[in-house]
Amino acid sequence: MFGFVTLVLFASQHHTYGSVDDDWAYDGQKGPDFWYLEFPHCGGVRQSPVSIQTAEAVVDSNTLVPFEMRGYDSVQNLQMHLQNNGHTVQVDLQGVPISITRGGLKDVYLATQFHFHWGKVDTSGSEHDIDGTHYPMEMHIVHYNTKYKNFDEALVKDDGLAVLGFFFEVGKYNIPFDHIIDHFSEISHKDDHTEIDAFDLRRILPDNLDRYFRYYGSLTTPPCYESLIWTIFYETIEISENQLETFRHMIHVNYANQTSRYIFDDYRPPQSLNSRKIYCSKPVPTKKTTQQDQHSTSGSAALILMAALTSLTLLTDLLHLICR
Ligand SMILES: [Zn+2]
Repeated sequence: MFGFVTLVLFASQHHTYGSVDDDWAYDGQKGPDFWYLEFPHCGGVRQSPVSIQTAEAVVDSNTLVPFEMRGYDSVQNLQMHLQNNGHTVQVDLQGVPISITRGGLKDVYLATQFHFHWGKVDTSGSEHDIDGTHYPMEMHIVHYNTKYKNFDEALVKDDGLAVLGFFFEVGKYNIPFDHIIDHFSEISHKDDHTEIDAFDLRRILPDNLDRYFRYYGSLTTPPCYESLIWTIFYETIEISENQLETFRHMIHVNYANQTSRYIFDDYRPPQSLNSRKIYCSKPVPTKKTTQQDQHSTSGSAALILMAALTSLTLLTDLLHLICR
């Protein structure tokens, strides 16, 4: 009898989204407004990013429970491959399975890479925004559904990919990020790549991952496949201004032998929500009323109005209807 030789192939995970290359940009005639001409999916009705309006987002605590994250804190046998793909800085993950489940996901999703979107200035850079507030940078950790054979098969399925999105805020120096930033000189031009020492991925994430937004969307770059389950976390990651500056002033768009500008503003503008809804795991914390606000209103009518508004706030809070 013939024996079957089973080849267990560890397929390369060094993929960008699909295999399109350089037929798009973030500005000019190949910018986001024109992507749909070359990549029809980009003109779809389930596109990303979107603007998260907390007053219109709906609380769904029963479904959106905390995630179960595996392998996020292991470095043994983990390989990290850093690359400049001409659009962003990306870290491909190989070796140790890093996965997420629960968190409103029906399946187990395996992490393949993470990358960043950043602005030239602190007031822009993130792809998503909360109530119109953009952040200086956004990180996406891309996972694919293990019920499909591989990333490429999952890429075109409705529930194929799950991406975790994190906003950055300017703050204290973020030491774990130097694992990446220290190698920027090695990837300053397009297609440069290098192996870096693996580090504990959990250390770069915010402490609290229980509060997040959920919606169904797409890749934010061509070919814009509508295969993404998006999770956007409310708690931000702190990074220093100096560290942000290294993102803005070390990574080039093109090859070494061409005149090249630095990569920044590599974000797609918000897309129409259309008939979609955005959900949150918990309402966002209400901002504290300042002393000045309290003293500036006077008179009984104003007090009655305030009391009514307070009870209304309490009521919506109790019913957990909207995310704000
Ligand atoms: Zn992204």
